[in-house]
Amino acid sequence: MVSDVYFASMMAKKPDEYEVVRVRRLFSAAGFDDQIQEGDLTAIKLHFGERGNETYVKPGFVRQVADAVKESGGRPFLTDTATLYGGSRNNAVNHLLTAMEHGFDLSAAGAPLIIADGLLGGDYVEAEIGKKHLDTVKIAGGVAAADSMIVVSHFKGHSMAGFGGAIKNLGMGCAPPSGKADQHRASKPAVAEERCTGCGGCAAVCPESAAVLEGGKAWIDPEVCVGCGACLAACPEGATELDWEKMPIFIERIVEYAFGAVMGKEGRVGFFNFVIDVTPDCDCAPSSDGPIVPDVGILASKDPVAIDAASLDLVNGQEGIRGSALKSHHGRGEDKFRGVWPEADGRLQIKYGEEIGLGSSRYRLIEV
Ligand code: SF4
Ligand code: SF4
Repeated sequence: MVSDVYFASMMAKKPDEYEVVRVRRLFSAAGFDDQIQEGDLTAIKLHFGERGNETYVKPGFVRQVADAVKESGGRPFLTDTATLYGGSRNNAVNHLLTAMEHGFDLSAAGAPLIIADGLLGGDYVEAEIGKKHLDTVKIAGGVAAADSMIVVSHFKGHSMAGFGGAIKNLGMGCAPPSGKADQHRASKPAVAEERCTGCGGCAAVCPESAAVLEGGKAWIDPEVCVGCGACLAACPEGATELDWEKMPIFIERIVEYAFGAVMGKEGRVGFFNFVIDVTPDCDCAPSSDGPIVPDVGILASKDPVAIDAASLDLVNGQEGIRGSALKSHHGRGEDKFRGVWPEADGRLQIKYGEEIGLGSSRYRLIEV
């Protein structure tokens, strides 16, 4: 199967082509208006950005999606789920306050905000998927109950999954904290003592206080660690290490969760990927590094696998930015996220997504 992926380049600068106009054009071209029925409660699944992060998809874009949903007959709401770790989005109150600090409210974004897994992340349903790693997955109640969904993703790097796009926004993003823990179980790091200088960087960023300094060296308590990966990016010596042989399990679990998030909504889910501000790490990070490639554009598709495959190819088709977090793979065609996270195999998201029937890795790119 070949899936259609619609693309609006950031380079198409014409007087009547504001970036937000492109969102509306993509919405129509991709046929999202046909996926929404009159009176639908339509979840707009996004990431409001951790406090301190600046590269989440901005409210001005999201407003265009919300308005287009309303024009299609739907009643949109903006939504995300609680994080597994502490930080600024670990319950609905903190999450909504962070979202509002980032400019998301009814007047700016055109739709109410509802945290999909409830006040403390306890509102979810179990969905039977019967896949290789997981028989059931936990999907946030507000996502499961929505009639239709538009998934708005910022496409960027990720220290353990390689990159984050539509699949990760579905899999990790639609799960309550207990579902995120199911996925992270295989991904807890340890400290290589011989490389640790005792700088304390890992302890400073660890949201769970699982990384502690003892006798001038760091140690990670596996009972407390939630596998969020923040200490991987923070260590200047590369001393916080994952067991990379287990990483495929982590990535495949994300994909299985993504399958569960759209199950029962066949033909009722659309995806936007914003391939702009392509940072090395995800929007869960409490800061934003500079981009590793120039802005590419905005993509829309009904297929989460195809849109991620196309986004990845477009990123890799760019010349890498010298002086950014990209340490290698600067040339056109080279795998940019491997140039930041050499061990993380993001392509497995696409390969396994196709294998379990989430979508197609083959796509036709249609410029609008
Ligand atoms: S992965 Fe690292 S930062 Fe995250 S909880 Fe574990 S020790 Fe802390
Ligand atoms: S950040 Fe790295 S070098 Fe610094 S204390 Fe932690 S493990 Fe050791």
